[in-house]
Amino acid sequence: MSAATTRSRTSRTPRTPDRLCAEAVELAREAAEEVAAPGVVGEHVEVTTEGDRVVTHFFECKEPGYRGWRWAVTVTRASRAKVVTLDETVLLPGPDALLAPEWVPWSERLRPGDMGPGDLLPTDAEDLRLEPGYSGEDAPPPNSALSQDMAELAEAEDAALTDRVVVPERGSITSVAEELGMRRARVLSRYGLHTSADRWDEAYGAKTPMAQAAPASCVSCGFLVKIGGSLGQAFGVCANEFGPADGRLVSLSYGCGGHSEAAVMPKPPRPAPPVLDSMRADEFPLRPAPEEGAVPSGDVTAADLGHS
Ligand code: SF4
Repeated sequence: MSAATTRSRTSRTPRTPDRLCAEAVELAREAAEEVAAPGVVGEHVEVTTEGDRVVTHFFECKEPGYRGWRWAVTVTRASRAKVVTLDETVLLPGPDALLAPEWVPWSERLRPGDMGPGDLLPTDAEDLRLEPGYSGEDAPPPNSALSQDMAELAEAEDAALTDRVVVPERGSITSVAEELGMRRARVLSRYGLHTSADRWDEAYGAKTPMAQAAPASCVSCGFLVKIGGSLGQAFGVCANEFGPADGRLVSLSYGCGGHSEAAVMPKPPRPAPPVLDSMRADEFPLRPAPEEGAVPSGDVTAADLGHS
């Protein structure tokens, strides 16, 4: 932005533009056309006062990619001088200018799910979500259960108990640390744990519409897989293939219609036993009944065939 336009306007800035400067529209137009591509300087839009004998003329910019932008040409004249001279020419966004969104650093732009295969997401050295873990490279504090002093003390106690019988070799601190899931340069801080828990609770917590409409909560659901650690007091993993949170960490107060005890499948109905309304055989003549009294020769009745 030009220095002239960003200059703070003090109470001394005259309200009325200098007459000679305001009339120098053609001088300003020529200056704008000199720096702009041919044909992109449009109508004169307005003139504003920058200070004593300093005004800026604005011209419409007809460049298609700069919709709403304006060519701003600042002109001035010396005290008691009649000649108006050119100060500067810049392209500035107007009130309706099409502007790029404000730039946001990538670390703030990233959204969950943005990472793809092969992407690397570096963490800040001061990332509040992490805190130093035990990597085995630094000596543990003297009062730590893993410290050398404590190990020697334990060995001495063991030796006293076993009357100096050779005891099996103790595991190294490193192997113990590995078994406990340590040996990481950094681990989740309390802050990191809380923010993660809040995020998961928001996605699969009691306040979600799914949980509000659920017949019961996850805490009583047979599909909930319990997890250890402090998170296990509030979360578990859903293992219902047909549920909305299969394989997700869900709050114990979450719930869904797939709750194991919500609806028991009704048993298939048993077919009714057959109903017999007659135990006698019905007679069905094979031919139409003959005229009364006339029995055609060779005619066969059901009785002749032995049907009763
Ligand atoms: S099936 Fe529904 S109620 Fe059961 S654990 Fe999964 S989300 Fe919770």
